[in-house]
Amino acid sequence: MTTTTTSVPPAPSFAPSDTPEEGSALATAHAQLATAAEILGYDEGLHRMLATPRREIHVAVPLRRDTGETVLFHGFRVQHNVSLGPGKGGLRYHPSVDVDEVRALAMWMTWKCAVVNLPYGGAKGGVAIDPRGYSQSELERVTRRYTSEIMPMIGPDTDIMAPDMGTDAQTMAWVMDTYSVNRGYTIPAVVTGKPLAVGGSLGRGTATSAGIVHVTSAALAEAGVPLAKVSVAIQGFGKVGSHAAEIFAARARVVAVSDQYGGIRADDGLDVPRLMEHVQRTGSVVGFDGADPVSNTELLALDVDVLVPAAIEGVLDETTAGSVKARWVVEGANGPTTAAGDALLAKNDVTVVPDVLANAGGVVVSYFEWVQANQTYWWTEQEIADKLEHRMTTAYAEVSALAKREGLSLRDAALVIGVKRVAEAHQIRGLYP
Ligand code: NAD
Repeated sequence: MTTTTTSVPPAPSFAPSDTPEEGSALATAHAQLATAAEILGYDEGLHRMLATPRREIHVAVPLRRDTGETVLFHGFRVQHNVSLGPGKGGLRYHPSVDVDEVRALAMWMTWKCAVVNLPYGGAKGGVAIDPRGYSQSELERVTRRYTSEIMPMIGPDTDIMAPDMGTDAQTMAWVMDTYSVNRGYTIPAVVTGKPLAVGGSLGRGTATSAGIVHVTSAALAEAGVPLAKVSVAIQGFGKVGSHAAEIFAARARVVAVSDQYGGIRADDGLDVPRLMEHVQRTGSVVGFDGADPVSNTELLALDVDVLVPAAIEGVLDETTAGSVKARWVVEGANGPTTAAGDALLAKNDVTVVPDVLANAGGVVVSYFEWVQANQTYWWTEQEIADKLEHRMTTAYAEVSALAKREGLSLRDAALVIGVKRVAEAHQIRGLYP
């Protein structure tokens, strides 16, 4: 078979991230940190240290396709901060992945781990690939090559990966196997979100979504509104959105959901278990009988109580956030609201439960998985569910109490708590040398 090389995208820029593109994930992350640093009264030096990733790696990931053709992808791993412990963060496969997006996601992981009091720093990885266009064996080769290229940076005590957009438990099994084979023995704690058969944790698959429902209940309870009385719209029907829909539907009314192909709505409430079967069969929520079509933009503006953006970054911006009618926005995705979007939501009295708090359930149970893997002792599903609920409701209560005491938004309060914990660890450890 002849091997040809095609599709070689230009190498990405590794320019310093001081001036990210306006409205980008990194610009949003920088603006949020700047607000927290100002509230905390940090000087320029400390602020810059907190804004700057500790380590970054850019790797070329060549793939021999099933056809024999060779294509090339760019991959990244960024450790934003490791003052509180090893880097922790997902691996994303999406065509729009670039180094600035990975930097933003890594920074959010740092604050998120600190908000829920985990002994981790923040990291993130990504490969600029659309996984839908490749076979399972091609994705396995991409994953194994990417893993071996970033091998010097990862490890159970240095940087622990998990699934994110476009990756799943199988991807983590390939990462774990590649790492272990190269080290010469099995090291389950190098990744979390693995299949149960190779040391995964019960409850990990639904943890992010369960956490979203815990913080939503806590926010509603503060306003005296029972969960059973609310309507919910969810953008994104992947690992986070679909399970959030399932858990919400058992206790509230889920009236609309969407994915990248479009959305559906049913004002009396969607039959989510039947919808899951439809998605299993067709690959999308679109075309589900018993519901009307709705666009992604329309979904964000529906007259619901709770809106859960659980897909991609930047969907609530200066053009969409002003139309949000929900009283609560609970951020399932990372960075779904831009700085301009945030200002509009605040102006309209929409309560935003921020990503670093709302979607932290995934990393909490990832931490439980890592602890279990390190002890080679496994907990029951009930133990995990109880510990998750306790972490999420405790973190919510801390954030909400600070917000009330200091007159801050929940986002600013969460960031202040997260940033302060990281900065304190950094200052107590001191600067080497
Ligand atoms: P996923 O790949 O499983 O699902 C993503 C979903 O978003 C899919 O339904 C996809 O169709 C939809 N989508 C993609 N582009 C879209 C668009 N332009 N408009 C509308 N929908 C679109 O990913 P996931 O793991 O569910 O992650 C979703 C978000 O949650 C990401 O921001 C991720 O970083 C964040 N997150 C995930 C976890 C986790 O445990 N998986 C934890 C914390 C945060």
